[in-house]
Amino acid sequence: MGILDSKIPSGPLADKWTQYKNDINLVNPANKRKIDIIVVGTGLAGGSAAATFAELGYNVKTFCYQDSPRRAHSIAAQGGINAAKNYQGDGDSNYRLFYDTIKGGDYRSREANVYRLAEVSGNIIDQCVAQGVPFAREYGGLLDNRSFGGVLVSRTFYAKGQTGQQLLLGAYAAMNRQINRGKIKAYNRHEMLDLVLVDGKARGIIARNLVTGEIERHSAHAVVLASGGYGNVFYLSTNAMGSNVMAAWRAHRRGAFFANPCYTQIHPTCIPVSGEHQSKLTLMSESLRNDGRIWVPKRLEDAKAIREGKMKPTQLSEEERDYYLERRYPAFGNLVPRDVASRAAKERCDAGFGVNKTGQAVFLDFKSAIERYGKEQAQIHGIGNPSKEKITELGEGIVEAKYGNLFQMYEKIVDENPYKTPMMIYPAVHYTMGGLWVDYNLQTTIPGCYAAGEANFSDHGANRLGASALMQGLADGYFVLPYTIGDYLSQDIRTGPIPTNSPEFDSVEKDVRDRIMRLMSGKGKHSVDYYHKQLGHIMWNKCGMSRNAQGLKEAIVEISALRTDFWENVRVPGNADGLNQELEKAGRVADFLELGELFAKDALNRNESCGGHFREEYQTKDGEALRDDEHFKFVSAWEYKGEPKDAVLHKEDLVYENIELKTRSYK
Ligand SMILES: Cc1cc2nc3c(=O)[nH]c(=O)nc-3n(C[C@H](O)[C@H](O)[C@H](O)COP(=O)(O)OP(=O)(O)OC[C@H]3O[C@@H](n4cnc5c(N)ncnc54)[C@H](O)[C@@H]3O)c2cc1C
Repeated sequence: MGILDSKIPSGPLADKWTQYKNDINLVNPANKRKIDIIVVGTGLAGGSAAATFAELGYNVKTFCYQDSPRRAHSIAAQGGINAAKNYQGDGDSNYRLFYDTIKGGDYRSREANVYRLAEVSGNIIDQCVAQGVPFAREYGGLLDNRSFGGVLVSRTFYAKGQTGQQLLLGAYAAMNRQINRGKIKAYNRHEMLDLVLVDGKARGIIARNLVTGEIERHSAHAVVLASGGYGNVFYLSTNAMGSNVMAAWRAHRRGAFFANPCYTQIHPTCIPVSGEHQSKLTLMSESLRNDGRIWVPKRLEDAKAIREGKMKPTQLSEEERDYYLERRYPAFGNLVPRDVASRAAKERCDAGFGVNKTGQAVFLDFKSAIERYGKEQAQIHGIGNPSKEKITELGEGIVEAKYGNLFQMYEKIVDENPYKTPMMIYPAVHYTMGGLWVDYNLQTTIPGCYAAGEANFSDHGANRLGASALMQGLADGYFVLPYTIGDYLSQDIRTGPIPTNSPEFDSVEKDVRDRIMRLMSGKGKHSVDYYHKQLGHIMWNKCGMSRNAQGLKEAIVEISALRTDFWENVRVPGNADGLNQELEKAGRVADFLELGELFAKDALNRNESCGGHFREEYQTKDGEALRDDEHFKFVSAWEYKGEPKDAVLHKEDLVYENIELKTRSYK
């Protein structure tokens, strides 16, 4: 237990970060030129960190497996980014953003980190506006906001349904400026396969050039891992197909503790699974819950008729619909947090009220919003006694302006017009709150190895509120790491370049080559996807939206057996000395097969329900998550010891000095 030192500065919560920045060591501009930093990942967290390090004067090398930083998974983010600017004058403040985030995470996050996040949130918006990010604006020109789940204010800044794309273009532009200056050397289509430690410090990586197959050595004074989340351990998720845990997991194998692996966010509004052939799920942004109302039929026979195609949802009157979130949670209604909305959808579908063929879907309906906006527009344009058709036309115009690209995407996938008939949605795996354990400096348990963005165990506790991942990734990259890494690197001003011809690099490179050969030499019975799909089934059925001890024990045994089978029987065609996407996938799935088991072990160990971790044995009589603050108010940080079954648990006790621990209620 004593190993974990979160290094939270002393002093009052609101002064900690400022005071800390005043006290830490700095590196002068001339010395920064002598220091190299590797950044693995060029999504929002890595891209913003790399650009800022280079701007400060460090020599930066970036790595990503895509052909351009612009293709990082961050580009998929739709709904928006939070900041406590209080532009709406609706009572927002740093404290409220802090409070909402701690409560949203079900009191399982670190106070000091979350307060810092809230504190720098406003800077992120200013930074991005300065870069030219085209945030939505109101008629008068001021930045617009909308509301997201789990909060009672509107603090989400957005760029239509493409916020991640616009933010990433901003970060990428900032990177490009530094690439042009020669301060960033970008290694695209390169995959980090291992971390190299010299004298206990992270001093480099082994990467594979994915085009030529060449294995390369890269050294630096510090390594930042910003390699994204691991939702694809479930096979089906809203993540990009390539998202994986490799970089973080390889660091874990070298000594970085992995925290809270079982904390997963299931997003309530995704396009439902349609069959076995699928390899990807599509998100319908949470922003839609600002205007969409979620319901199922009140009567089982109506649900059955809709499932069988004998009735259309539009035939049911208001009285025949059960707006179950509005019924159960009057204060937050359709904007309850994601874990709450997801479980409520599952509960209705399990009770037989599901509305698609598989019985695993609920409606997200814009009828009321279209009417409301239509009437308002008619009033604005002085149209007296507008017809029903006119109201619908005007209302649809407003809904299109707000969410047009999402509606278009839905129609393309489902082949139904969501303006005319309600969308069908169901929860899906979306975000992972677990990740590499980091201290206040974002340093892992390996000195010199940092983790940022979704790759670290983050500030979100047991549940992430919407629009807070972009905020955290950019806070880490633009405003936290550039300070904290300097404090560490100030010890390295006389070190000089780190050589790559050392025994440490030899040894790790050998491990990497051996592992590749092992992957290539499976007996060839099954494809990599076969194993990934099997793993996904186990994860979803036994470690998914609700979990119990029996299922988790089974999952541990099944995943372990699947892993053994994988290493004996996997088929990786082609060879290792050139482009081979099956080999890339095999390496990633091999890591998922270890992580999956640790995930189940972590979930089994946590005998309570909190946020996205719902253990059936621990619930209130209303079916809400039941925490056990007395025994589980800690971060689980797992130390690698070979097989996942041997991983050793370390606990970081969470101290709440500024916020009262309460039952989490959204009623
Ligand atoms: C569909 C969708 C919509 C979302 N919408 C929102 C939203 O509206 N608001 C919000 O706040 N959050 C949203 N999120 C969450 C948010 O997008 C992500 O959490 C965030 O973008 C992650 O950023 P990141 O920089 O940590 O990682 P990523 O963007 O995933 O980037 C990972 C980077 O690491 C690189 N990498 C990974 N492994 C290796 C390796 N081994 N070697 C080399 N490079 C490697 C990749 O190439 C990539 O560059 C959404 C998520 C999804 C799935």
